[in-house]
Amino acid sequence: MAKKVIVIGGGPGGYVAAIRAAQLGAETHLVEKENLGGTCLNVGCIPTKALLHTSELYRMVKHGERIGLKGDSVTLDWPALLNRKQSVVRRLVGGVGGLLKANGVAVHKGVGEVAGVGTVKVHGDKEEVLTADVIIVASGSVPVKLNFPGADLPGVIDSIGALSLPKPPASMVIVGGGVIGIEIAALYAALDCKVTVVELLPEILPGIDSEIAATLKQTLVKEGVVFMNGAKLDPSPRRPADWRPKCWWVPKRRNSSPKQCWSRWAVAPTPTAPVWKRPASSWNAAKSSLTPTTGRMCRASMPSVIATA
Ligand SMILES: Cc1cc2nc3c(=O)[nH]c(=O)nc-3n(C[C@H](O)[C@H](O)[C@H](O)COP(=O)(O)OP(=O)(O)OC[C@H]3O[C@@H](n4cnc5c(N)ncnc54)[C@H](O)[C@@H]3O)c2cc1C
Repeated sequence: MAKKVIVIGGGPGGYVAAIRAAQLGAETHLVEKENLGGTCLNVGCIPTKALLHTSELYRMVKHGERIGLKGDSVTLDWPALLNRKQSVVRRLVGGVGGLLKANGVAVHKGVGEVAGVGTVKVHGDKEEVLTADVIIVASGSVPVKLNFPGADLPGVIDSIGALSLPKPPASMVIVGGGVIGIEIAALYAALDCKVTVVELLPEILPGIDSEIAATLKQTLVKEGVVFMNGAKLDPSPRRPADWRPKCWWVPKRRNSSPKQCWSRWAVAPTPTAPVWKRPASSWNAAKSSLTPTTGRMCRASMPSVIATA
């Protein structure tokens, strides 16, 4: 085992690698610019599951007669639900901090930058230079800004925005029927929001077993979700003040007109792009690029740098 390891990024990729390195005897440092736990704990898996848990219970109790339950009407306390989501996130993020500490990992708050072979600069409250035998880059990914007219208008949000709306909207269009889009569709459909999912491909959940995808789609259709498969947003460059996205079937059906498909909110649970270059910007500028390779052990183009993805 290398004697000294630096991990950039405190998400599931980074904190697990750091803990394991420390357990194997390395002096381990972890650099995180935001919150420990990364996307998954803060704005991904965990908050979505906390919201979905309540939305599912809400839906079940509201239609309790189907399962032999009768009671007074149930109402949703959205602010309380958001508070609970945040308290779950806080608890788990705190747990990651505790695990790192218990395993002797030193956490550095700041933006990590691979400054050269075996060297990481940390830009935080104070500037630090760390050196190591091995650097593990676990900087995760960020949502890609979608390139459609109106994507920057108020009311068009990404998956992070969809997890803390001021209240569940009356209607919502979700651009993209991948796993995150479908999770958000299930969440808001259960909360009485009229959800439309626009997906370019003929089916939702690409890459997932087609029988499972079809079964899930059927369930969501029963919940009132409208699916527009084989459709995309109108790419018209016009952007009047009252612009609302319209959808076209692809290929355009003869004599068809665009469908007006939303009222106020459009969620673009966009694809993500790796933030590989971010921790290595100065290295890229000065020398050859630091890129992940597909070789054994995920080694990167710079010696002693390993990528988690
Ligand atoms: C809404 C949603 C729901 C999801 N649900 C699931 C699910 O149910 N199951 C599942 O398996 N996956 C789910 N995912 C995906 C999951 O969140 C990611 O696969 C996982 O977070 C990737 O972990 P990671 O450590 O590679 O990256 P991240 O979790 O993105 O962590 C990277 C960390 O690196 C930090 N960082 C980046 N650059 C630097 C730098 N230069 N210096 C210091 N720190 C830096 C970031 O701040 C971040 O904390 C979901 C994602 C979303 C958005």
